Amino acid sequence: MIRWSVVMMVVCGLVPPACAADWTYNMAFTQWAGSNDADRYYTNTPEAAEERAAAIAAGGYGAVILSGYHFRLNWLSRDDDVREIVRMIVDACHRHGLKVIEHIDLTIGYYDSYPIAWEHPDWLMVHAGDMLTRHRIFCFNNPEFQRFYLDYVERWQRETGLDAWQMDEISWLNRGYCGCRWCRAKWEAEKGRPYPAVEVPSFFDVGMADPDYREWMQFRGKSIEDFYRIVGDALRAINPDVKLFDYTTALQSSPGSWGRTAPYEVQVSSVDTIGTELNQVPFQSYPYVAGLLAQRRALGEFAETPAWAKFDITGPSAYFCWAFGRTLGHSIWWSLAPDNENPRPQDLLEWPWQMDDATARVAADVGLLLPGSTRDLSSDGDYFDAEFQGWMQALLLEPFAARPIIEAELTQTGALDGYRLIVLPNTTAISAEQKATLMAWVEAGGHLLLTYEAGTLDHDGSPSADPLLTEAGVTLLDEPVEASALPAQWPDAPIRSVRAEEGTRVVESIPGADAPLLTVRPVGEGEVWYFAARAGKLALEPSQLPGQYARGGSYTPPLFPGATEALQTITAEALGEQPHFAVEGVEQQGLLAWIYRAERDGRPARAIHLLNCTGRELEAGDTIAFDADSPPPTPPLPELTLRLPGDVAEAIFATPEREGARLLAVTAGEGASEVTVPAEAFDTYGVIWTYE
Ligand SMILES: [Zn+2]
Repeated sequence: MIRWSVVMMVVCGLVPPACAADWTYNMAFTQWAGSNDADRYYTNTPEAAEERAAAIAAGGYGAVILSGYHFRLNWLSRDDDVREIVRMIVDACHRHGLKVIEHIDLTIGYYDSYPIAWEHPDWLMVHAGDMLTRHRIFCFNNPEFQRFYLDYVERWQRETGLDAWQMDEISWLNRGYCGCRWCRAKWEAEKGRPYPAVEVPSFFDVGMADPDYREWMQFRGKSIEDFYRIVGDALRAINPDVKLFDYTTALQSSPGSWGRTAPYEVQVSSVDTIGTELNQVPFQSYPYVAGLLAQRRALGEFAETPAWAKFDITGPSAYFCWAFGRTLGHSIWWSLAPDNENPRPQDLLEWPWQMDDATARVAADVGLLLPGSTRDLSSDGDYFDAEFQGWMQALLLEPFAARPIIEAELTQTGALDGYRLIVLPNTTAISAEQKATLMAWVEAGGHLLLTYEAGTLDHDGSPSADPLLTEAGVTLLDEPVEASALPAQWPDAPIRSVRAEEGTRVVESIPGADAPLLTVRPVGEGEVWYFAARAGKLALEPSQLPGQYARGGSYTPPLFPGATEALQTITAEALGEQPHFAVEGVEQQGLLAWIYRAERDGRPARAIHLLNCTGRELEAGDTIAFDADSPPPTPPLPELTLRLPGDVAEAIFATPEREGARLLAVTAGEGASEVTVPAEAFDTYGVIWTYE
């Protein structure tokens, strides 16, 4: 995929989206009309379809997504009619160069689809513990249901000419599913041994601490990918170019909730795009949403798969949502009328200073290891998920040039070369091969930061005989740090009591406890740091958003106001004197900046996206409003100084808010350069292109 886009860049020069080899990159897709609940009759004449397709194409979009009759099992009686309308819509869209994505759920049934369930009671997922079903969702490991599903989508593919599918709820109902005989048969065929003892109550009580349970969860994840692959193969046999969109790529979700427990590289291998529908309002929850998108962007870069996000976009919020997607390297699922004024979608979608998402790569100084192997060791979200996300947010908020490292990247040749610091936020499970890779990188000059119990276990969760942690020159002690010894304002954060061995320097001690808190040990050309607290949770801003997917609509600040700054300070110390990306000048939190290696006009360049989120004012418990009626506030920004590692000969600044582009002042230094952005050069968003 990537090599082909490089060839196309040479041919096309500027890489406008229409010229890119893969239309799912730099993609602007919008609702054809209606919501999931809508019927499919909104444009049911050739004239109406033609008019709609023309308007959407004129709005600058490249693709449409068809919603309505979402839970399709309820509407099978109208299928001939609906399929005919879709064929007409596809024809109209293709005449205007638009791709068409069908959005469908074909696993959950109710109302009019009860007769299907009564006819096929053994299609239903059943809880593995008690063999009862509690929902009307069919099991995709059931070959008869698979055949039913394939018959449906194959017929649609043949008769409508669709370009892509988004198939929702190819997922397990929850962590208890499934115990049906087909799931058991699949396991036994693959593993050659009986199904795990899922009916024993302790199976779920012990949860992730039980290797059998973890293997079962991974089997469930793999089953999802197997089903996507079966469906994808069948559709590609009809149209080799058809694309499968992933419904919700959840790298951090608890293994129990979405059931996406396959390792990330497996999760992404069976689909053509990764994305999520679950972020309504990126402004008020920008640390949380930016953290999620940063993870998905990294996974997409690793797998050479484009990433997208759905926001509930209105006229006033459209510009910010688009800029948020640009900053985090995501395409956006739009819900803005194609003839919207101020902004006109085409003015944003066709803005000439954009980065090509297909070839850009985050130019990170700091890598944060995101391994499925540690994630899957515990059902307790605090064990790794909160730790990782709290760190990720703190780094993005500085802003450091930080990027998650997908576990499988660790052993890719050269994948760690650009990093100056790699953080393992309680990443406990590290294989011998991963350890060797990390330590070779340290020997060559890298700085590694381990926190809490990072690197104490083998890949399978058993205690390591040769733990990575010993490379930090500290020994974990059994006796806990006396809570009474901690300063009163310290929250209840787990802290490991450690002894610093000879050759290890204690940089910070726990106040009043005379125990190491932050240590460093030189190894080869590099350094191994250790931070004794599991403090990511304290810095985590967990707020999700209001709307129909609400997980709580009020603002929850980080548990400990100082934790974010503390993690940023530790990161700066561990980076040391190494040149790294930094932004100076803005006092308050909220200027997001992400830097990529990219190409422009055939020249290698770096693209730095700047997004002004400094206008957010929330206090604990404040209801987060949906930004439907007003754009995010943008307090004026002062002059900014950007420090970039390496040389910069030329820096150009552009923003959709001002005509043209301007050259920025550049100062060369020792192994680093400074670029100055004048005060109020932009209100919300701008991009800097630098050339060496
Ligand atoms: Zn099943």
